Amino acid sequence: MDFSLTPEQEMLSQMFREFAAKEVARTADKADKEETLPLRLLKRAAAQGFMGAIAPEEPFGGAGLDFLTFTLLLEALATECASTALTIHVHNTLTLGTLLRRGSAAIQANLIPAMIAGERIGAFALTEAGAGSDPTHLRTTAVRVGSEYVLDGVKTWVSNAAIAGVFVIFAATNPAAGPRGLSAFAVPVETAGLVIGGREHTLGLSAVSIHRVYLNECRVPADHLLGGEGEGYKIALETLDYGRVGTAAIAVGLARRAVELGIKFAGERVQFGGPIGNKQALQGYLADCATEVAAAEGLTRRAAWLAAQGQPFTQQAAMAKLFASRMAANVTNKILQIHGGYGYIMDYPIQRYYRDARGLEIIEGTSQIQQIVIASNLFAGTNVKVRP
Ligand SMILES: Cc1cc2nc3c(=O)[nH]c(=O)nc-3n(C[C@H](O)[C@H](O)[C@H](O)COP(=O)(O)OP(=O)(O)OC[C@H]3O[C@@H](n4cnc5c(N)ncnc54)[C@H](O)[C@@H]3O)c2cc1C
Repeated sequence: MDFSLTPEQEMLSQMFREFAAKEVARTADKADKEETLPLRLLKRAAAQGFMGAIAPEEPFGGAGLDFLTFTLLLEALATECASTALTIHVHNTLTLGTLLRRGSAAIQANLIPAMIAGERIGAFALTEAGAGSDPTHLRTTAVRVGSEYVLDGVKTWVSNAAIAGVFVIFAATNPAAGPRGLSAFAVPVETAGLVIGGREHTLGLSAVSIHRVYLNECRVPADHLLGGEGEGYKIALETLDYGRVGTAAIAVGLARRAVELGIKFAGERVQFGGPIGNKQALQGYLADCATEVAAAEGLTRRAAWLAAQGQPFTQQAAMAKLFASRMAANVTNKILQIHGGYGYIMDYPIQRYYRDARGLEIIEGTSQIQQIVIASNLFAGTNVKVRP
């Protein structure tokens, strides 16, 4: 058994960390306060190959990173700014990844080069007001009319919406058929009838551009269908498997920095005549936090490795996401406590990490949904039925 990264992965990981320290760190607080990521940051990310991180070099000119190496990028970005990491994650994992696996040759040729260049940011629109944890009853419809599909409906919680150049949108092509009646479409932002709606102002991950998206008789050519008609649910689930590993990596990067912030503060803050880090209680706190980060890293790396090897990883992805997102919320809470009152004012970065971490327990399937995925694998082949 070999737990080490390859020399190339070590080298790339170092490069990711340098980019994060140089480019992301200085924008993070402002982006959080202003609820917007500077577009020049995404341009710089594109120049480094990060917007085409998972696209193959041939024929698209992507960076061709395997999925494990890509999660190292997310981890590095999230140490400085989880919003930046999530934006690049949604673009790559959820949108570019779906087009690479399920897009027609024409769609890929039309959209992927611009995505790699950072000229078309990707967004993934599954959720609706009445369909969150249960996406099997979407109200958005797609009706075939001649050589086109006509999409109507409202998608909610679309990350990257206002900066997006292409959306992967899920709609019912056969509403009576439940999950088997769902289909996925690639919808360029310039498509008539696609309107970006109101912004969600969130507790954390505040620089992610999260909006409603309206589809008013939105017509797309039939070849914008991803996979086949009725394959939307399957596409959503397979994409979310990758998504959950990416989210877990963001949780690991974010929490690792939180621990560093805790160590720094505990060394600087003096009470009772010495640094508070001298107190065994706080040493124990930090030891627990560092251990939890390491455990989450192990689960996440294993799931990412399985994904990169093309092996089944649904169970490991759900476990990594469940554990790592919960860990990040716990760890940031404890480190905020180490900061005392200073953790509760906006001047110290720990409050941003605490707010950002909380969102990771909700996105891409809540913790309760991850438990259902895990339990259904545990009970497979028994007389117990695990149903959401
Ligand atoms: C920051 C952020 C970014 C997001 N970005 C996107 C995006 O880009 N694209 C997109 O499509 N969506 C996105 N979402 C939406 C996200 O996927 C949903 O919020 C999530 O799936 C939960 O759905 P819901 O909010 O409707 O909650 P609900 O499904 O209404 O759940 C409410 C509560 O009930 C629990 N619950 C529901 N069903 C069960 C069950 N069967 N058993 C036990 N408990 C259950 C849930 O765990 C939760 O605690 C984003 C959300 C957030 C917060």
